[in-house]
Amino acid sequence: MTLDATHDPDLTSWVDSANGHAEFPIQNLPLGVFSVAGGAPRIGVAIGDKILDLCALAAAQMIPDEDWAETLQEPVLNSFFSLGMEASQGLREWLSDLLSDSENETSVSPSLFDRESAEMYVPCAVGDYTDFYVGIHHATNVGSLFRPDNPLLPNYKYVPIGYHGRASSVRVSGHPVVRPSGQRKGPDQDAPARGPSMRLDYELEMGVWVGEGNALGEPIPVDEASQHIAGYCLLNDWSARDLQAWEYQPLGPFLAKSFLTTVSPWVVSPQALAPFMTKMPPRPEGDPAPLDYLDGGPDAAALGIKLEVLLSTEKMRADGDAPHTLSEGDAASAMYWSAAQIVTHHASNGCNLQPGDLIGTGTLSTAEESGYGSLLELSEGGKKPITLPNGETRTFLEDGDEVTLVARCDTPGAVPIGLGSCTGRVLPAK
Ligand code: MN
Repeated sequence: MTLDATHDPDLTSWVDSANGHAEFPIQNLPLGVFSVAGGAPRIGVAIGDKILDLCALAAAQMIPDEDWAETLQEPVLNSFFSLGMEASQGLREWLSDLLSDSENETSVSPSLFDRESAEMYVPCAVGDYTDFYVGIHHATNVGSLFRPDNPLLPNYKYVPIGYHGRASSVRVSGHPVVRPSGQRKGPDQDAPARGPSMRLDYELEMGVWVGEGNALGEPIPVDEASQHIAGYCLLNDWSARDLQAWEYQPLGPFLAKSFLTTVSPWVVSPQALAPFMTKMPPRPEGDPAPLDYLDGGPDAAALGIKLEVLLSTEKMRADGDAPHTLSEGDAASAMYWSAAQIVTHHASNGCNLQPGDLIGTGTLSTAEESGYGSLLELSEGGKKPITLPNGETRTFLEDGDEVTLVARCDTPGAVPIGLGSCTGRVLPAK
């Protein structure tokens, strides 16, 4: 992914709030689906504090390409994503010109809406959702809790581990998190009992939105995988640890995960992330090289994205306290497998990925405790409560707790961008 005029740090927009905006300057231009004042969901692009209604521009025949115009009038991004990387790059260049050249202000301004008053939606109709497990520090930390002698199973460094998640319960940021009930059995109990989860957790993950798909039976070579990624979001894989511990063997996660997955609303494109990409960290001495089909070479790109998790309890909000930072880390150092590798692995048996499919990376924990991406790790399996600034303690989430994931990109010579946030508040079990 090369840098071009859309990344120019000197580029500004006639949308004033975009200039110096921490997340959505003109160098970002993420797509999403929004509505205003009870209207129908439509595709838009975030620019500063505003959303530009692309459906309206298409209906007014202002979009220069017929295929873009047709697909941008749909209420989800799947069809636009099916047009592939060339279309996303073309639209980005066109939007960059449109929103920087002040001659367009008069004709385009009527299609701008305040982001604050907009309702956001899951940007695609998610046909399939797969969650991987690429966070090697997370896998090691969690493995140690379940299997102290054997934390990382022997397949981990050869196979990107994943499971098929539940697409129907993917929701956009802000959707309430109803505490799930299910079977759980403590180690010293003879039989399981059913009830509300007592170990409700979050998982800090990145989501990958699939762009152009592959035909059934046609794998995706690793050096072409990035062409199939439409963009990225934040993803919270809410997890009921007590349900998970009892149900996970032998077929993996099921009801402990499928009650809800939350995504941030904006799809940040690989083009927008280009200035922030770094190289995959070298594999530790003694680790096997990836098998050929997964070997992206020494220049394989890693996501140079800074991640943060914030917690706000009911009491904190009542007292007017600011949310508390539970962890700060980054994606690149957490990921043993890259986004390209998981896309390639997913399709390597001929499985067809489709535009708008959602792929989770797995929990992204850094090597240091300050960057652990779940309460399971931060509280050492519930043994070590976390003390919040107001004296409250947590091992797992309580009713009323609100978890927010945030992602930012910042590197010398580029205008910083953000991915927005992914939030959810826990409600009592039903
Ligand atoms: Mn997960």
